[in-house]
Amino acid sequence: MPDEMELLLRAGEIAKKVKSEVVKLVKPGVSLYEVAEFVENRIAELGGKPAFPCNLSINEIAAHYTPYRGDSTALREGDYLKIDIGVHVEGYIADTALTIRVGMDEDDLMEASREALENAIATIRAGIEIREISRAIEETIRGMGFNPIVNLSGHKIERYKLHAGISVPNVYRAADTYVLREGDVFAIEPFATTGAGQVIEVPPALIYMFIKNKPVRMPQARKLLNHIKTNYSSLPFAYRWLQTLMPDAKLKLALVQLERAGAIYSYNILREIRGGLVTQFEHTVIVEKDGALVTT
Ligand code: MN
Ligand code: MN
Repeated sequence: MPDEMELLLRAGEIAKKVKSEVVKLVKPGVSLYEVAEFVENRIAELGGKPAFPCNLSINEIAAHYTPYRGDSTALREGDYLKIDIGVHVEGYIADTALTIRVGMDEDDLMEASREALENAIATIRAGIEIREISRAIEETIRGMGFNPIVNLSGHKIERYKLHAGISVPNVYRAADTYVLREGDVFAIEPFATTGAGQVIEVPPALIYMFIKNKPVRMPQARKLLNHIKTNYSSLPFAYRWLQTLMPDAKLKLALVQLERAGAIYSYNILREIRGGLVTQFEHTVIVEKDGALVTT
């Protein structure tokens, strides 16, 4: 039986490999659909499963965009593309993200979130408080003349739990005094922006999460809920993953019914409030006595 550490590392290796491969696919004219399908198919080929739908968020969209079947959105030169990849192996999760400027080299805005991530990871060891990580992120991003996004956070990870209750904000807050323990798993994800430093929810919702079983009358909604319970009972899933089950019109109606019944939750896309450009880098780390083991 492989132990927890081995499975966390295996998920991390898969995420790392897919990340290195997808970079070569990103070019002007390539559709987000192609990129997402590549990422998720490679995860499966390498022996993992997606821990969440591949998030592909462009420019002022910070997170939670994932393409649908028939989505013609294509990359344009100069776009800031955030690729956020989640892999799990038997519930052990790796969560990692990078920003690519399509057809162009890295710039200061990208360096700000990349360096914030490096500096944040450098602070991590058993015994420190969350707020020390947040301070490193905030100081790095502000020091480079940009704003950290205050309402996006890193997060503790547990088996089959992507967000396990403890957040790692991208700004210092005195109240964040949780003390890191050896073996804790955290995703650290600084977001830097040229905007005000806040995201707001805007439609559409392309990612969903199962909450609990509920009685629903419409047969299509019942069928859909059974499928969701069987396949995605604990981790987020994509609208795209359901499109082969029934025609779009029926699917949308069924999802509305399930959400109204309280059986599922929908995640809107997250846009910077002033329309500022957004970059993100993310790693998953295991807290060690004297440092952090980066799995991704
Ligand atoms: Mn992520
Ligand atoms: Mn994350």
